[in-house]
Amino acid sequence: MPQVKLNVKILDATKDAISIIYAACRQCYSPKFAGDLIEEVKSDARKQEDFVRKVVSSGHESPIEHVKFTFAIEGVSRALTHQLVRHRIASFSQQSQRYVKATNFNYIIPPSIEQNKDLKGKFIRMMEEIQTGYNDLLDHFKRKDESGEQVNQDARFLLPQAAETKIVVTMNCRELLHFFEQRCCNRAQWEIRGLALEMLKICQDKLPAVFADAGAKCVKLSYCPESAQFTCKRYPLKEEILRNK
Ligand SMILES: Cc1cc2nc3c(=O)[nH]c(=O)nc-3n(C[C@H](O)[C@H](O)[C@H](O)COP(=O)(O)OP(=O)(O)OC[C@H]3O[C@@H](n4cnc5c(N)ncnc54)[C@H](O)[C@@H]3O)c2cc1C
Repeated sequence: MPQVKLNVKILDATKDAISIIYAACRQCYSPKFAGDLIEEVKSDARKQEDFVRKVVSSGHESPIEHVKFTFAIEGVSRALTHQLVRHRIASFSQQSQRYVKATNFNYIIPPSIEQNKDLKGKFIRMMEEIQTGYNDLLDHFKRKDESGEQVNQDARFLLPQAAETKIVVTMNCRELLHFFEQRCCNRAQWEIRGLALEMLKICQDKLPAVFADAGAKCVKLSYCPESAQFTCKRYPLKEEILRNK
């Protein structure tokens, strides 16, 4: 069955991240040159890490822009990547539906449909129908002697948002914190939340000084900034806190 699961792999992360953030912070206040400071600071890892934790929790975020993470992501829907690419302070390279034929496309089934036998059956039949239509279009264009991207580019208009895609994403730490605030929230759409939580786990493992306390907005605020209609009630609403003061 062409059904697939989320897979997130880290491709790269800035080396000596703590030293770079530390040197960048120190450059703001030191008469010395960061090019020299970096060698000095490398010697005291514990001190640097504590310093970076304080900087991050104080909200001084520009120094962490110097450190970035690159992820390879597969097993996600086009519906997910449409949301992901709205994050503008990031770099993306996505599998093309012009250059890569979808003659046996994989797709994501939402849990609400997966759990319902009837709905799941209908959903899969629909995917199969789309596949047949897509392949028919490819045949049609091939008969007209068109090739490569010419053939794929119009047939892809039939592909659903459920169609699986692969994407490489690079974000710096500041953008990652922002991404996690928005997308780890229980209000975020389930699929992108699942991706954000996977990415958060990786970041927390690689760079706890920056990401230990990262997550949905409420984690930092200790209240929920959403309205009463949308809160998941993990934290009290801001109005509730103000009312009880
Ligand atoms: C729960 C949820 C529901 C959503 N629903 C919808 C929806 O219904 N419709 C819809 O269209 N979108 C929706 N979105 C997407 C949302 O509006 C943002 O486009 C997306 O989350 C990217 O966030 P961003 O713009 O803050 O961040 P990024 O693009 O990642 O940018 C990071 C930060 O940089 C700054 N920045 C970036 N670009 C600019 C700029 N041009 N000018 C000024 N400052 C800038 C801002 O401070 C911004 O917060 C939703 C998002 C969430 C989390």
